[in-house]
Amino acid sequence: MRTIEDVLDCLYRWAPASIAWERDNIGLLIGAMSDPVRGILVSLDVTREVVDEATALGATLIVAHHPVIFHPLKAVRTDTPQGAVIAAALTHGIAIVAMHTNADAAAGGLNAALAARLGLSSVRALDPSRGQRRCLRFSVDVAAADMAGFIHAVEGLPDTRIDIDHGDASRLVTVSTPVWRQRELERLAAASFGVALRWQDSFTLEGAVEGFGLGAVGTLDHELSAGEFLRHVADLLGCDGLRSTPYTSETRIRTVAVCGGAGSAYIGAARAAGADAFVTADLTYHAFQDHRDALLLVDAGHYETERIFIETCASALRDGLFKTSEKSPIFQSVTNTNAMVMFK
Ligand SMILES: [Zn+2]
Repeated sequence: MRTIEDVLDCLYRWAPASIAWERDNIGLLIGAMSDPVRGILVSLDVTREVVDEATALGATLIVAHHPVIFHPLKAVRTDTPQGAVIAAALTHGIAIVAMHTNADAAAGGLNAALAARLGLSSVRALDPSRGQRRCLRFSVDVAAADMAGFIHAVEGLPDTRIDIDHGDASRLVTVSTPVWRQRELERLAAASFGVALRWQDSFTLEGAVEGFGLGAVGTLDHELSAGEFLRHVADLLGCDGLRSTPYTSETRIRTVAVCGGAGSAYIGAARAAGADAFVTADLTYHAFQDHRDALLLVDAGHYETERIFIETCASALRDGLFKTSEKSPIFQSVTNTNAMVMFK
């Protein structure tokens, strides 16, 4: 039976921990790594209702976007909503994992899925994750090495480049790879060259890793008026209403930036990327005021722009975890955890 550690390995292959915001609180928040997983419920938030939903489904692990514990806890008071959730999870033997800003910034993560939902193409990260690439060097004896096998295996790793310098008796091997693939690379090197391998040199590169980063920007297949675009967003994200900067019948939308959840820090990046519109959430009146002449700023709701996490994460788990016959059911939460409603 799969353990929580197996599930976490799979989740981190999809959304590496190193791309999370440094003050985030991701990973296993309640439970034990060795606990068996009998079913997984993927949700946006963890509320009492979500814990009840997991219990009813027989799931023993909740994978949520928002960390159920974020600020350090001084007490677990079961007469508070958060304490009650923690107590209920422990009582029912349900572990809780958070995949938060790492899932936002993953290639194929929340923002990539949001861009795809809105029909954007030629999508790239709005704020690429930099400093996530490692350069690793080592030399290896010509005679001892399964060089061809190693090169073949490394070339199969995503976002990884290999260079070989040919000397008389040895080869100098330089590999550039995302930091989260370093362990995989070490395993390949050990298999090809023996366990004694030591990196001669190892340093972080400045550049970004393709596809990883916060937010996303891309283009619509054809230009829309601002009104058509807002209808498109509301329909596709299931919004009861939207807030936007004022627009006229002349306002045209083709290049669109998105950032699920609170994205006000990326308005400048959206403008710099030439976006005609920026779809995000949790924007203040003054944000609208400051940027009203620059682009169509759209507050589509925190829940509405992030609930796509549920299907995206569930799909990553199905793709990455259960290729063998040993399967645990993966459920997508149907509990509405939206804490904000629109009065119309
Ligand atoms: Zn959020």
